[in-house]
Amino acid sequence: MLSYQHAFHAGNLADLQKHALLAELLSYMTKKDKPLSYIETHAGRGLYDLTSAEAVKTGEAAQGIEAYQGIFRQGHPYLQALAEVRREHGPSAYPGSPMIAAKLLRSQDKLHLAELHPQEHAALTRALRAPNIAIHRQDGFDLAQSLCPPDPRRGVMLVDPPYELKQDYVELPKLFRQIAKKWNVGVLALWYPILNSAAHVPMLAQLSEDFPGALCHEIRFPPAREGHRMIGSGMFIVNPPWGLAEAAAELTDRLRSAGALG
Ligand code: SAM
Repeated sequence: MLSYQHAFHAGNLADLQKHALLAELLSYMTKKDKPLSYIETHAGRGLYDLTSAEAVKTGEAAQGIEAYQGIFRQGHPYLQALAEVRREHGPSAYPGSPMIAAKLLRSQDKLHLAELHPQEHAALTRALRAPNIAIHRQDGFDLAQSLCPPDPRRGVMLVDPPYELKQDYVELPKLFRQIAKKWNVGVLALWYPILNSAAHVPMLAQLSEDFPGALCHEIRFPPAREGHRMIGSGMFIVNPPWGLAEAAAELTDRLRSAGALG
């Protein structure tokens, strides 16, 4: 089942949280010269147009990045990536997570991106071309299993599935355990939706038991429209770099002060 299309949701508050934390994380990790691996299991198309029919239909970006871009401190790495992408692709462009990673990482870093949907994969291939970027049309969980531990060994894995399959909530803690066993220095980040059904709660309880030192950052926001089931989003990060917890707390404060949170 591949019905989810991120173009409807790009730049919403959940993306803002995920992408701002990812940008901070990569900015901390690139303070050292040592090369990194960046693995993304569910990459999407990499580049979105917030004036597309999909984005306009839901209006989610208007309630996300378009409303709250001003909350970030000057020089925030998320804003840097956004500005660079808008310089290259125009003012309505919005970078997905692989594009943010490509903008913040260096030529010595290696990116592996998995995207299974044929059209999203084709768009991602058009959006990101560089010798250090490998794009795989493959199941993201299989890619993670086959690559870890990656070379270079220092690095980050972002897992951002669409949660169309209820089984994902059960499989994700297992995947994290298996990957962490093979790659104990990897920074493993999982994004999850907070739905009014609280479907994420057992998964999060299992992850928290398995990784007691992980950083868990959640925001709650009003549903994008009446009846919409998503009322927040979370990032669970194993082996977070020093400083990321403070950056996450600052994000919450700034969103709260701007009136974005529910
Ligand atoms: N990470 C992206 C971002 O923040 O810009 C958004 C990714 S979107 C939430 C999830 C993507 O996973 C969709 O593009 C979907 O086609 C893809 N997908 C779904 N199942 C997959 C699988 N088993 N392996 C790899 N990609 C998959």
